[in-house]
Amino acid sequence: MEQTKCLIIGSGPAGYTAAIYASRANLSPIVYEGIEPGGQLTTTTEIENFPGYPEGISGTEMMAQLKQQAQRFGADVRFGIVTDVEFDSRPFVVTIDGEKKIEAEALIVATGASAKYLGLESEMKFRGQGVSACATCDGFFYRKQDVAVVGGGDTACEEATYLASICKQVYLIVRKPFLRASKAMQERVFNTPNIKVMFEYNTVEVLGDEDGVTGARLRHASGEETTIDIMGFFLAIGHHPNTELFKGKLELDEEGYIKTIPGTSKTNIEGVFAAGDVKDPHYRQAITAAGSGCIAALDCERYLLSK
Ligand code: NDP
Repeated sequence: MEQTKCLIIGSGPAGYTAAIYASRANLSPIVYEGIEPGGQLTTTTEIENFPGYPEGISGTEMMAQLKQQAQRFGADVRFGIVTDVEFDSRPFVVTIDGEKKIEAEALIVATGASAKYLGLESEMKFRGQGVSACATCDGFFYRKQDVAVVGGGDTACEEATYLASICKQVYLIVRKPFLRASKAMQERVFNTPNIKVMFEYNTVEVLGDEDGVTGARLRHASGEETTIDIMGFFLAIGHHPNTELFKGKLELDEEGYIKTIPGTSKTNIEGVFAAGDVKDPHYRQAITAAGSGCIAALDCERYLLSK
């Protein structure tokens, strides 16, 4: 069986930063990229708040650079999905794509988080046919059409403003009477003429035909119902951590985020470390994820040295 000192699961800013530090510490880490190589940043447009990029940088480009940087120091970045982990044995046994097994002395979990959906049957029916959780990936298909974005946070506002630049009309469907987004994002939304903010509306049904989405039926807090004609229905209502694999194996909080010892990346299992959005429901920024990837690699290095 193949063996490694340090196996990193996930290839967002947390995973790659952990890989940069671990490879520079001569741990020769293996990185499994997972379902979404590059992580969530590859689905955003411009990143303007990562220090060191005064003009901003696209998410895809930044992740490609982080990958190159990790590889430059010898990180072995591989395409593949971790399908099982056994923490009972030492070294840990990690299964890739249901077949290949690798023994790892230490593990860094940086599997991130994924978009949430409303849970409507009609929403599932039209997923990929007008229903999307990524405006930057799919917005282009709705050029000069009418679309809706659900959510009132920074993501929803960012996506609505992006879509407004390519679509005719954007409806921002917000369940509360206010936006939760930062003041700067709110201002951007209110100053964009083709965004109509619909406060206190919930989506009852996504409407469509064999060609995809045609509209959405909404209900106001007062009980009044209305229908909007749209071709794209974008979800921006938050995320859930990608921790299915670790249920019953690692200690998770009530929302499924990995619990770590405060101020460290240490999980309840010695030798298993967590970094990035998978353990952070609060800050969720590229820079905080990268910082926690660094912490995880340093904790991992110290753990291996102490053994
Ligand atoms: P948030 O959790 O901040 O917002 C989620 C939004 O979706 C809220 O308005 C919430 O409503 C709404 N929502 C949740 N569930 C439902 C539902 N079932 N039906 C209708 N609406 C629903 O998530 P974001 O993804 O926007 O942001 C996450 C974090 O990332 C935040 O800390 C944010 O600041 C940050 N971020 C920062 C960016 C930047 O700095 N450039 C860009 C994007 C995100 P309610 O308010 O009623 O709970």
